[in-house]
Amino acid sequence: MSRLTRADLERLDAGDPLAPFRDRFALPEGVVYLDGNSLGAMPKGVPERVHAMLTREWGEHLIGGWLKDGWMAKPLELGDRLAPLVGAGPGEVAVVDTTSINLFKLLSAALAMRPGRRVILSNAENFPTDLYMAQGLIAQLGGRHALRVVPEDEVARAIDDDTAVVMLTETNFKTGAVFDMADVTAAAHAAGALTLWDLAHSAGAFPVDLNGCRADFAVGCSYKYLNAGPGGPAWLFVAARHQEVAHQPLTGWLGHASPFDFALEYRPAEGIRRQVCSSPGVLGLVALEAALDVTLDADMTAVRRKSVALGDLFIALVEQECGDAGARLISPREAGLSPPWRRGSQVSFAHPDGYAIVQALIARGVVGDFRDPDVMRFGFAPLYQRYTDVWDAVAAMRAVLDSGEHRAERYRVRASVT
Ligand SMILES: *Cc1c(COP(=O)(O)O)cnc(C)c1O
Repeated sequence: MSRLTRADLERLDAGDPLAPFRDRFALPEGVVYLDGNSLGAMPKGVPERVHAMLTREWGEHLIGGWLKDGWMAKPLELGDRLAPLVGAGPGEVAVVDTTSINLFKLLSAALAMRPGRRVILSNAENFPTDLYMAQGLIAQLGGRHALRVVPEDEVARAIDDDTAVVMLTETNFKTGAVFDMADVTAAAHAAGALTLWDLAHSAGAFPVDLNGCRADFAVGCSYKYLNAGPGGPAWLFVAARHQEVAHQPLTGWLGHASPFDFALEYRPAEGIRRQVCSSPGVLGLVALEAALDVTLDADMTAVRRKSVALGDLFIALVEQECGDAGARLISPREAGLSPPWRRGSQVSFAHPDGYAIVQALIARGVVGDFRDPDVMRFGFAPLYQRYTDVWDAVAAMRAVLDSGEHRAERYRVRASVT
């Protein structure tokens, strides 16, 4: 490739069909935000919507809001709105609880659907909370089950007739590598096992096709590529064909068939509603509602196309500008413009001084993040990033490396949140 210049990227910005979306986000002046994979930027409609919920709904309608403002219906209503982003149908998604809790609920339901089988199969590179929740569930169930963890490229081969559930995060949080969901799901089904997909780094980042892949269960969060704000409500998916046999253990009153009968015996609701446990957190739900207004206006194919272009450019520019500095690409070089996807919407480089370089970049207004032991992670959110942001980020990296400012003592001390 010939040498890229900033003018090349200015031309790409000028011709970018997604460029108008940037205006719908609040972004501080002078910041290049490449951490939307960890906490998405705030859509401008969110404060307005939350404010309206507080003043016009809660403030004026008080308890009447549960019906008048549709608060009680939000978990399933927003589930239906979110469903097309992950290839689910109506009545298959609920927006409830947190990703970890939903994983626990559905993993438990899935194990109960495969009573003769002992193994939860996962991969060693999985996000730790998924493995921890599985360990907690196994202990709770009396230790009859086992968590088997294999390297990600051995998962499909490791599925056997003792595998109850294949539990995977589709997009590797460190490298951005993506499992072939259709392929792994087919291998699981061929062996009689179920699949549970964690889509934390997939939903909103690229097109996901749960039903097209015949996935059984899935969970995901809303505060990464869906921009619902810190700790925003998570979601879960149960394929329609499993809904009457999938029994989750957190049998709270709002998953009851008739909660306001206040009966003494739990009786599960029909459909996806039995996956609900508690009173919905309406403040978080309306923030997600306003955030979804933005994402649902975008064509996910265009989002994917731009995400791949941003990631490819970032790789090319880091190699062009910082090629001599010892940064090693650990993300797949090929992203994929159609399934199977190879790389999600992030690019990671390993560098022995990774933590300090990321801190020095943040001080210069280029926000990425760091993952142990040496991973510098940069997320691409096509709705609010410009091609020139990629240029500016790499220019800042070059400046940090040239000046050696990352060697300063203040960039070496690990913060409690990285
Ligand atoms: C971010 C993330 C989570 C977050 O779980 P919480 O319960 O919301 O804290 C879970 N799984 C994966 C794979 C993640 O990337």
